Amino acid sequence: MAVPLTVDEALARVLARARPLETEQVALTEAAGRVLAEAAVAAVDLPGFPSSAMDGFALRCADTPGSLRVVGHVAAGQPAARALRAGEAMSIATGGVVPEGADAVLQIELAETDGELVRMGDAVAPGANVRPRGGDIAAGARVLRAGMLLSPSRLAALASAGIAEPRCARRPRVTIVSTGTELRPPGEPLAAGQIYESNGLMLESLIAGGGAVVERTAPVADDEQAHRTALERALTADVVVTSGGVSVGRHDLVRQTLADLGAEEDFWGVAMRPGKPLSFSVRGTTLVFGLPGNPVSALVSGLLFVLPALRALQGLANPAPRFRLGLLAAPASRRPERDDYQRAVLEERDGTVVLRPGTGQESHMIAHAAAADALVHIPRGEGELVAGATVRYLPLDTAGSA
Ligand code: AMP
Ligand code: MG
Repeated sequence: MAVPLTVDEALARVLARARPLETEQVALTEAAGRVLAEAAVAAVDLPGFPSSAMDGFALRCADTPGSLRVVGHVAAGQPAARALRAGEAMSIATGGVVPEGADAVLQIELAETDGELVRMGDAVAPGANVRPRGGDIAAGARVLRAGMLLSPSRLAALASAGIAEPRCARRPRVTIVSTGTELRPPGEPLAAGQIYESNGLMLESLIAGGGAVVERTAPVADDEQAHRTALERALTADVVVTSGGVSVGRHDLVRQTLADLGAEEDFWGVAMRPGKPLSFSVRGTTLVFGLPGNPVSALVSGLLFVLPALRALQGLANPAPRFRLGLLAAPASRRPERDDYQRAVLEERDGTVVLRPGTGQESHMIAHAAAADALVHIPRGEGELVAGATVRYLPLDTAGSA
């Protein structure tokens, strides 16, 4: 392995290759979690009319304080039949159209009613409890920028502004290929030397959560022809994610097979633990991630490189991993030559996140990793991080809903 890239260098190279995919119009009902490919422009004013913020009485401020005759009722969705005249009020529901002639709404709690009359002790200020037309956003104005993920509030904003089919990048198609003669599907009996296949399942859930359409092949034996057949088919996807077979053993066939199939290797080897033997190749527009087979290495590489690539392919403005900040519970030694990503338990103390890396940090220990809440970044460098030092972490319990 040549001098490995740093994690940041490797990520920059991945993102440089992950150009946004072509776009399509998406029905709003299908758009949750998608990424806007162009700015969304309001088709209507929001609110679309002067709208009452309260249940109460629409009136003219000039008539207050005093006693007014209630001449009608305005329900939401049913504007008043006529304009309001001097000395009149209309009862009105929240969201009702404030009738022409009225310039304020008196909330019901401040009103005294007596038969056909409504009375108030204080003057009502102009515009009180009236939401002006276009006060949230005006027709023609930008509601959301290109590159924004359609979260629940953003979906609601698009719906409210009359945008029924936003334009989004299409979802990346990802094929996952697990390699290893030793792999058996969970549920089947194991012969000597065999293990249960876990990476495919893990990566499928991670990658589907990253917005991709995922296909997963049956585990591929460590055999040249089997590799060739599986990878040749997989290379029609936008992204291929393999696990296993990228180290230097005689049964590690992924890189050579990819090269034989015309994929160009961009890099192999990242100065990190776990996950060092990661390989990244490109064939045409297809990106290929060769993840190491050890499950924790595959997980960490998936979080640090594959998910960001999927975000970039979908045109997300900020595709890099979403690190948060917390405090180390105990000292941690740094390595001059590599970044460490340690599995840790997360506790909240007085609103502060405290991270405690545990035992069992080896890259095959998926059961230990599963008990952790967070992946803590111990940056490469000299000396030690003291207890209480601020570190970056990725939550592990929500990974896959990124
Ligand atoms: P490799 O990268 O192929 O040398 O595999 C490294 C280690 O990870 C070996 O112990 C493999 O048995 C294990 N491994 C490889 N692929 C998987 C997988 N899909 N699921 C679980 N363990 C795996
Ligand atoms: Mg293997």
